[in-house]
Amino acid sequence: MSKSFKRFDALAAVKTPSNGTGKIDMKPFDITTIFGENALHLNELKARLPKSIWKELKTTIVDNAPLQSDVADAVAVVMKNWATERGATHYTHWFQPLTGFTAEKHDSFITPNQGGGAVAEFSGKELVQGEPDASSFPSGGLRPTFEARGYTVWDPTSPAFIVENENGSTLCIPTAFASWKGEALDHKTPLLRSAEALNKAGLRALGLFGIEAKRVTSTVGAEQEYFLIDKEFFYRRPDLVLSGRSLFGAVPPKGQELDDHYFGSIDDRVLSFMLDLERELYRLGVPVKTRHNEVAPGQYEIAPIFETSNVAADHQQLTMIMLRKTARKYGLVCVMHEKPFAGLNGSGKHTNWSVSTSEGLNLLDPGNDPHSNMLFLFFCSAVIRSVYKHQDLLRAVIASAGNDHRLGANEAPPAIISIFLGDQLDDVFTQLKAGDLKSSKAGGLLGLGTPVLPPLHKHAGDRNRTSPFAFTGNKFEFRAVGSAQTISLPVTALNTIMAEALDELSDQLEAKLKDHDFETALLSVLSESSKESAPILFNGDGYSDNWQEEAASRGLLNLKTTMDALPMLNSEKNAALFGKYKVLSKAELDSRFEILVDQYFKGINIEGETTASMVQTMIVPAVVRYINELAAVLDRGKSVGLTVAGTERTAKKLASELDLLIEANEKLIKQNAELGGDTEHEKAEHMRTNIIPAMNKVREVADRLEKIVADDYWPIPTYRDMLFVK
Ligand code: ADP
Ligand code: MG
Repeated sequence: MSKSFKRFDALAAVKTPSNGTGKIDMKPFDITTIFGENALHLNELKARLPKSIWKELKTTIVDNAPLQSDVADAVAVVMKNWATERGATHYTHWFQPLTGFTAEKHDSFITPNQGGGAVAEFSGKELVQGEPDASSFPSGGLRPTFEARGYTVWDPTSPAFIVENENGSTLCIPTAFASWKGEALDHKTPLLRSAEALNKAGLRALGLFGIEAKRVTSTVGAEQEYFLIDKEFFYRRPDLVLSGRSLFGAVPPKGQELDDHYFGSIDDRVLSFMLDLERELYRLGVPVKTRHNEVAPGQYEIAPIFETSNVAADHQQLTMIMLRKTARKYGLVCVMHEKPFAGLNGSGKHTNWSVSTSEGLNLLDPGNDPHSNMLFLFFCSAVIRSVYKHQDLLRAVIASAGNDHRLGANEAPPAIISIFLGDQLDDVFTQLKAGDLKSSKAGGLLGLGTPVLPPLHKHAGDRNRTSPFAFTGNKFEFRAVGSAQTISLPVTALNTIMAEALDELSDQLEAKLKDHDFETALLSVLSESSKESAPILFNGDGYSDNWQEEAASRGLLNLKTTMDALPMLNSEKNAALFGKYKVLSKAELDSRFEILVDQYFKGINIEGETTASMVQTMIVPAVVRYINELAAVLDRGKSVGLTVAGTERTAKKLASELDLLIEANEKLIKQNAELGGDTEHEKAEHMRTNIIPAMNKVREVADRLEKIVADDYWPIPTYRDMLFVK
């Protein structure tokens, strides 16, 4: 009888040094000298470009003026020299297709010359435009496959950077990606368009206040949550490898109940990983700032200092790439799925978002007396208004199969979109609603009852982890975004709805200014808007059942799953919004809807197939072997006169659970084969209504079996192995 000890091999392997040498190379470094050494930042460009060219380039980067071809040629030379000095032999146009990941196609700088040698060359044309074959990227029906042409276009507002490999380096040039008809096939293009829309509406609003600014931009800082799993365990789990989450696994007796992991001291190997990761990100010019353990065992977070939304989105993608890459050096795998482990905390990507002027004025900073800060009240009212009007859209842009496990699961915000303002602002907006602004509640000082500790400055509003969209001091935090998602689409939506709300409030203000002085007009506009959008404000506990009821009575949407939420993405209302602000055409919007439906279907389809195959090829054989061993004990025990009643009960229990497992799996296999229809929509619907429940049934039995099958027979690394063995 062959036993499966593979799991124990994995356990043993974790104890041995994981990166080959067992020595982690952490040379001390000076953060100020290495920061940005692998990114081509403005200062570097300025130093290397002729003055006149630099001036022209700056008007493109700062004022978004069109790029001239002589500028492109000069930048290309500088870029190539800078990159080759750093060992780069290749360059790539780096872009964000609608897969949600990034893509790259590498070209060498090499050009053969007549003498049989070669020179390194890179022209302005190559810098500005690339032509990858677009046919294999999802286009959601925007482009029939025979029209394979697609273009990548240099984005001069996001710095180029170098990706190093032990065997060479590559220059990565951030680009947008479009079809040959000019339709956006990527996430960057609409994000840039939304930034432009917000700029226009923002400048217009500031104009009404008599404030001058060059540009209005949104700023973003995204907090990335992730799990680290030893690779020995990861690769022994087909579910983690194929679907990114564990499809089986009994929750261990110790999960996160003790709350001892959150902000706990960081394990040495993990800390080495984090230090290495941060060093590489600094070198790439990504301003990462905080790190800590998260709520679940094995879960961590990394957060940067905020940047303008386009650069923040690129840097967020780069952070995910570097997380994956660096983890491998330490024998770890970085898991960014929204819910890799049932019963434990999932992972989100809190997306902090604000609006500021290019001069650095944060328009969502309330100052000490928000009630008298009219500019803040105007911009904050616009946010509240926009979220109220477009709850459906905000829910749709964060919809995914992975995030469905997280939203509303009593650990992450519910699927109902609402806004948490905190005590102080809630009070101010209540006054505003009544049309009478008198005062702001103060934060004040907090004494801790001992003279040795300095007094604390108390914030005027507490935190509320249960809110999907929370005001946190001088920014809003969109917490419902999933850990694996790109922030580009959610931020595109935020920028666009904000542009619309600013325009609406500006329209109303302009109209009222005809008959009223500024303050009266403004107060009346904001008071009306506050009344209108009041139902979206909620300061209470978002996890409670009461909230579900109350939200319904307020008429707020509760779109529980991706399949409920996605149809909102390209509704008439939202198509009109994106059309008006030239962010996404109807065809572009429809294509995103199609792609998201398709991704939902494919993701769950993979899970269904993987579940069935793991049951058949791993779990059933393990149970059968164990039953076989027990049966032998029954036989022999009886023959030598031992009591075998307990063994018999165990064997019977296993046999009956095994029957249930096989039965449930047969049902799943049947559903897997059916697919539910021919269109992607029918297939996606089939996943939701048939595959997910069928998988859940299988898992239920399998997880019970895990608890009664002999540990040395169980072939799949357990939650205990993965989360507690470090
Ligand atoms: P918290 O712990 O309240 O979430 P942090 O200070 O850790 O707050 O900030 C979380 C994230 O919010 C960081 O990425 C930070 O850079 C970002 N952030 C701070 N201010 C702004 C802002 N004005 N606009 C966008 N993001 C911001
Ligand atoms: Mg936060």
